[in-house]
Amino acid sequence: GDLSAGDMDIIRRRQKLLGPAYRLFYEQPLHIVRGEGVWLFDPDGSRYLDVYNNVASVGHCHPHVVKALCEQASVLNTHTRYLHETIVDYAEKLLAKFPSELGHVMFTCTGSEANDLAIRIARSHTGGTGVVVTKLAYHGLTLAISEMSPSLGDYVPRGEHVRLVPAPDTYRIDGNVGAAFAAGVRQALDEMRQRNIKPCALVVDGIFSSDGVFPGEPGFLKEAVAAMRAAGGIYIADEVQPGFARVGPAWWGFARHDLVPDMVTIGKPMGNGHPIAAAVMQPHIVAEFGAKSRYFNTFGGNPVSCAVGRAVLEVIEAENLAENAGKVGTYMLEGLQRLAGRYEIIGDVRGAGLFLGLEFVKDRKTKEPLAAAATHVVNDLRRRRILISATGPGANVLKIRPPLVFTREHADIFLDAMEQALASFGG
Ligand code: PMP
Repeated sequence: GDLSAGDMDIIRRRQKLLGPAYRLFYEQPLHIVRGEGVWLFDPDGSRYLDVYNNVASVGHCHPHVVKALCEQASVLNTHTRYLHETIVDYAEKLLAKFPSELGHVMFTCTGSEANDLAIRIARSHTGGTGVVVTKLAYHGLTLAISEMSPSLGDYVPRGEHVRLVPAPDTYRIDGNVGAAFAAGVRQALDEMRQRNIKPCALVVDGIFSSDGVFPGEPGFLKEAVAAMRAAGGIYIADEVQPGFARVGPAWWGFARHDLVPDMVTIGKPMGNGHPIAAAVMQPHIVAEFGAKSRYFNTFGGNPVSCAVGRAVLEVIEAENLAENAGKVGTYMLEGLQRLAGRYEIIGDVRGAGLFLGLEFVKDRKTKEPLAAAATHVVNDLRRRRILISATGPGANVLKIRPPLVFTREHADIFLDAMEQALASFGG
């Protein structure tokens, strides 16, 4: 149907009040007023299946998380300069989810801030500035991090110390993806050497979300990380997208590769919608920074945020969501592969846990992107009250990323609707 007068009014007021830089989802923007589990509800009470939200990862408005938030908010909310048990209790439980080498956590409010802090610390540790990221990476919105977030487009200036490498495109690279990716990193390091830029860090999103969703074979990242370390830089795993069990029992994107990062940044699902994020690191990395500088963040790590973060961890454990992500993710991958067997325009299907990508192509031989199919399917599914999105350099990759409480029954609803959306694509 068309937009209601009320929705038109919100759109008009948004433009007037928020200015021109905001973007809405969908040809027909969606107005939602309530969330519960995997469902979102519009003002009329119609429900939408959320197959996209990796923030409300344990389910929208999970009662255990909401209760923890309300209880702590009604007792005390201050900051990290007073003694409070919540921050140390949460830090202990959170760090227990990481390899033992990663011994410190510093809390922020957003993933951007976590990456910004990580880069500052990495610079102090390495004495270098050179950063390697993938061609269409997104790491955040601060001035420093926007300079290493090429997915923001050419208008946003890229730092002179930033080098881009091709994503590990498992669909297009012939042969060894790990070797190809590492070759890109080595070439970036050579360029830095020629320009007297001292290497600082390789920063990668472990699922390469904005590059087009490339989980790849476990282990393929190792060679690239070794190349950066050999040049004196460190490996920062941006786990804002894959982290907190989205990729299944491995729990973290880097863990799929059997790697121990020097630093890890986390956010989005960490608070299930509450703004909490962090940089996690090996202690020696932050030693000099801590001795010569100091860290304070007004809101980061406050008692309410830590109570929320702890409640999220408790839900992931209590409801076995890592196992669920693995099992339901595999089930969805197989369902999408069956569809690929019947629709020529599906060139590739890939995923790890409940983070899946489906790529549309004009021709399976040339692999030329077919953005029109992705646009059609995303908007057609929205009309069928199923929410996903698209990504990638050709805007032709479906990004499928439901809350981790997604079941096989939900997957069947999604797969049936996908089938109808595909059947209705005119070409
Ligand atoms: N890193 C990655 C991989 C992200 O996807 C995002 C957010 N899309 C960020 C960092 C930045 O997080 P935030 O929006 O919380 O600042």
